[in-house]
Amino acid sequence: MQDSPGKESPPTQMIADAMLGELARWLRVLGCDTLYYRDTSDRDIVVRALRDHRTILTRDTHFLKMKTVHHLVFLQSEDLSEQLRQVIDELGLDVNTNRFTRCLECNTLLAEVPKAEVEGRVPVYVYQHKERFSQCPGCGRIYWAGTHMDRMSQKIQILLGEKPELNP
Ligand SMILES: [Zn+2]
Repeated sequence: MQDSPGKESPPTQMIADAMLGELARWLRVLGCDTLYYRDTSDRDIVVRALRDHRTILTRDTHFLKMKTVHHLVFLQSEDLSEQLRQVIDELGLDVNTNRFTRCLECNTLLAEVPKAEVEGRVPVYVYQHKERFSQCPGCGRIYWAGTHMDRMSQKIQILLGEKPELNP
């Protein structure tokens, strides 16, 4: 990645504060690199944001006063849908190309694994009916396309105000 001189645009990698777990999870669903820790201090968030060059997502005015905070999205709304749209707008996030490529639990990019490797580690019905599986190299969680993914896709369309695609 190249840094262009002049006005620096905020990083599209993010770190959400401890209150924004749901927002962080949905950003991960959309494929956006979003760190989130349930038990962490404001100071830790600032340190990580500086070290990894990340934009802080918060509803806490406390962060606005910190001189060490360079990139921040201050969320106006408590509503998840409005929060998502604000973050996407302000950071210019691409939320279409990389959906379902990131672990929802730990933010790591998923890697495809051969079907044989997940035998006995997913429900029998799933193993029999699915051909493609991904695994998180970070926490080991296994993912596959299924009804939960369809439900999440529908929820994304609602959250982002998209029209559901009609099947031909
Ligand atoms: Zn993971």
